[in-house]
Amino acid sequence: MEHVLHYADVLVLDHAYNAVVSALRFGATLTLDTSGKCALQHATAGAGELASNATVAGLTSAYLTLRDDTFRQLLSLFLITVSFGHVLYQSVATFSYYFIYDQNQLHHPRFLPNQIELEKKVATKAMGPMAAITVPWFFFEVRGYSKLYDNVDEYGWGWLVFSAFFFLFFTDMMIYWVHRALHHRLLYAPLHKVSSASIGVFPTPFASHAFNFMDGYLQSLAYHVFVYLFPLHKLLYLVMFLLVNMWTVIIHDGEYFTNDPIINGAAHHTVHHEQFNYNYGQYFTLWDRIGGTYRAPEEAVFERKMMLKNMLETQAKSTLTKTKSGKEQ
Ligand SMILES: [Zn+2]
Ligand SMILES: [Zn+2]
Repeated sequence: MEHVLHYADVLVLDHAYNAVVSALRFGATLTLDTSGKCALQHATAGAGELASNATVAGLTSAYLTLRDDTFRQLLSLFLITVSFGHVLYQSVATFSYYFIYDQNQLHHPRFLPNQIELEKKVATKAMGPMAAITVPWFFFEVRGYSKLYDNVDEYGWGWLVFSAFFFLFFTDMMIYWVHRALHHRLLYAPLHKVSSASIGVFPTPFASHAFNFMDGYLQSLAYHVFVYLFPLHKLLYLVMFLLVNMWTVIIHDGEYFTNDPIINGAAHHTVHHEQFNYNYGQYFTLWDRIGGTYRAPEEAVFERKMMLKNMLETQAKSTLTKTKSGKEQ
């Protein structure tokens, strides 16, 4: 985040803050006099309401032009997190909608007419508050409290390779327990239910971030906690972050390309969405096996196919009876 913040400052935020500050100054001078600077100086020297306007502008300027200022950093990190969140959500969901998602589902009778809009609305609503409570993690990262590092030599190549696997193992374990806790009766309805129930029976890729913001936050905690406990190379962190995001899309929309007993793929995760109390894991089936919540997908996927088949057959029959009775009349 340190580097991201630096580039954001240099490329965008310095200019943006300066623009805001000059706009504020301009606003202040307008209320004073047409003679700009002179009036501003005059105002700071004293004289009632006009002076306070100028002081506000002066203070804001001092605050917003210092890159290391706490307030400015918090604000910048919030803006970066929100924008990045939106870009990532829109691009991943759009890509997946056109290239991975089975668009035949759009014609299903139980597909809501405004479903995609609804999903986008829920996702957009969650983005702001989720970014706000995530910012402290990034803030202390920028201030050097995390164990993220720049130079491979610091811990060597051995650790670099190991840490990639360890990152997956650790986050998978933590997400498993957080996710399982979210299914507790006290937490399920207020936090976790929204991600499936309010969206409809056949979610599109735009439902990927359509969750309650606390739900999303709690499920992302593992990634933030990791870098405060164990050394992780910054570039590797970025790569892992992108991979993890892609994985989330794959287990939701992907074809059942893997039926591996170790990897928690799309078929496994479909079982979670249909039967709720199984397969809480994210990447591996390990913790579901240890925690006794593992359910092999074959059986469940088969049940779903049967259900769909029965449903379509009943629908076909009822249309047939309708046309028949229509003809008889
Ligand atoms: Zn769940
Ligand atoms: Zn899911």
